[in-house]
Amino acid sequence: MNAALLQRLRTELDDRRARTGLRRDLVVSGPQGPVLGVDGETLVNFAANDYLGLAADPEVLDAAQQALRELGLGVTAGRVLCGTREVHGRLEAAIAELVGAEDAALHGSCFDANLGVFDALLGPDDVVFSDALNHASLIDGIRLAPARRRVFPHADLDELERGLAGAADARHRVVVTDGVFSMDGDIAPLPGLCELARRYDAVLVVDDSHATGVLGATGAGTAEHFGLAGRVDVLTGTLGKALGGGAGGFVAGSRAVVSTVRQVSRPYVFTNAMAPALAVAALTAIGIARRRPDLRERLAANTAWLRGALRDLGYEVLPGEHPIIPVMLRGGSLARDVSAALRRDGVLAFALAHPVVPAGAERIRVQVSAAHTPAQLELAAAAFARARAVLAAA
Ligand SMILES: *Cc1c(COP(=O)(O)O)cnc(C)c1O
Repeated sequence: MNAALLQRLRTELDDRRARTGLRRDLVVSGPQGPVLGVDGETLVNFAANDYLGLAADPEVLDAAQQALRELGLGVTAGRVLCGTREVHGRLEAAIAELVGAEDAALHGSCFDANLGVFDALLGPDDVVFSDALNHASLIDGIRLAPARRRVFPHADLDELERGLAGAADARHRVVVTDGVFSMDGDIAPLPGLCELARRYDAVLVVDDSHATGVLGATGAGTAEHFGLAGRVDVLTGTLGKALGGGAGGFVAGSRAVVSTVRQVSRPYVFTNAMAPALAVAALTAIGIARRRPDLRERLAANTAWLRGALRDLGYEVLPGEHPIIPVMLRGGSLARDVSAALRRDGVLAFALAHPVVPAGAERIRVQVSAAHTPAQLELAAAAFARARAVLAAA
């Protein structure tokens, strides 16, 4: 081991430990679901992105098991070599149909999709306008592209318009946003973004990772939620959240966009194809998401109930309708202390602190699922009620 590297990393880790503490990842036992085994405890899970409860759906798991037996585990090759199976094409067609696009290109994750898409589509004469709170994978993907970059303040349409007006000389103006922002659970101001895109002839790119399957009457996502189907030029999303939670991501859009991505996106070309059993699982999950609007209705009802219960307890809950519920516990270690108190009461929900959110905007992020039973929601509310003792002592 190189001594200089070792010494530098040890010093930096010590420094990080002293400043913010080092994150230690929880080890979960047993399958994903509304209840998790953690360190010998059983916790009700309000920390996952399993919005429709499909990660533990027997139909999804059975389909994956059967595919594993019939198709084997991995394909040990990329899509462009001998890694493409018939199910990859069927999954891409199902994704395109779900989100209302002409075609979709499967990636290993949405992180990969975002890393590849901007470099594949843009050049040095283009300007990208990126919301300040966009996901890390969008930030990194935009950095990898040769285009110019401008960051606009979160959801600030006036600032975005000023930028667009000043970029008339660009070949393409490209506006990039999360559909739903993962820290605040707020939905992008898509009507305003679509209007600006129309007025300034801009390309609109939306990462709908927290919205695909969740928002809109048929689960098509943020655009359907606003009645703006067909107005997003390039959509990226994940199969690792509402759509079964296995793994995988995609770029969806018009045929020319997706064909270009298939030809040149580096995380599409230079990586192993998705394991067929995972593709079958996602395909099955999409089928359920499409034919079961009652799951979205249950999710909305669960979310409304818990949002109301937490507000009634006197907590500051950021307004919204998405199943991401940010419970603000501003300052010091309050959010962490309340999260620990919840855990003692059998509820798993994480505290988010600086640098993940700004100092003073510490919070607990509660994530609701259609799979949560009324008793589990009541358990969470009761735990938050008892945690008020922590607040009283603070
Ligand atoms: C979760 C998430 C991703 C990453 O998705 P993976 O498929 O897990 O890589 C990308 N973008 C957004 C907005 C996300 O919330």
